Amino acid sequence: MSEVYEVHALKYAERNARTRADSFLFDDDHAAPHAMDYFLWVLRSDRRTIVVDTGYDTDEARRRNRPILMDPPSALRLAGFDPDRIETVILTHLHYDHAGALDRFPAATFHLQSAEMAYATGPCMCHGTLRMPFTADHVCQMVRHVYSGRVVFHEGDAAVAPGVEVLAVGGHSRGLQAVRVMTARGPLVLASDTSHYYENFLTGKLFPIVVDVEAMLSGFERLRGFADRRELVIPGHDPLVRALFPLVRDDPSGVALHRLDAEPLRPLPSFAAE
Ligand SMILES: [Zn+2]
Ligand SMILES: [Zn+2]
Repeated sequence: MSEVYEVHALKYAERNARTRADSFLFDDDHAAPHAMDYFLWVLRSDRRTIVVDTGYDTDEARRRNRPILMDPPSALRLAGFDPDRIETVILTHLHYDHAGALDRFPAATFHLQSAEMAYATGPCMCHGTLRMPFTADHVCQMVRHVYSGRVVFHEGDAAVAPGVEVLAVGGHSRGLQAVRVMTARGPLVLASDTSHYYENFLTGKLFPIVVDVEAMLSGFERLRGFADRRELVIPGHDPLVRALFPLVRDDPSGVALHRLDAEPLRPLPSFAAE
């Protein structure tokens, strides 16, 4: 029997001054408010603990003038996970809000798609629009990790540990990957930015940061087929995730830990079709 995992979402930041135009291309209701949550995720079995993405830290929040509730390594500690002892970190992609604080996981090996490293260090980064979601310091830190022998590169779908695999789903970034993990309720997919919101993949609405429209749309299609139940595909930035899944721990700062492999508290709402 394959290893099974508890899966947690840890919210460490939120950005509420946004509209639907920031989340969906060609949306009729473009001026309506649309909040965004920022998460990292933790998978835990009786044998190992794996962190998925490392968020952005307080320095980065200052640089980009973005709100932050707590530095992700501190939020992890608060939630009962010790970043010093994490041996496996999966990076879904290298955007600033997923690949900060890379020097704060001293025991970790990092799992990344080769295509993402090539993209983040290659000629596309000569274009301001394409490099906007990346931070040079994060990318340089990753290069240092490569030179220290601490990166495992994947070319497409691959196993990371028993019961944990990465799934190459491009579109939003060249080497973006989702994570499929076995839980007691069946396979669960951490979509990360392959779908920022449930609405993106369920209704086929493009997120405005896109490098390959066709890859994003076929990624949505793939996501719809991954999990046995659609609420078990967990979008990367959707506040609805916190409404659906039970809160395990919170803090006056607003940092919140939710258990994703638990029975949902309510059914997933339906969205207007494409
Ligand atoms: Zn992203
Ligand atoms: Zn993101």
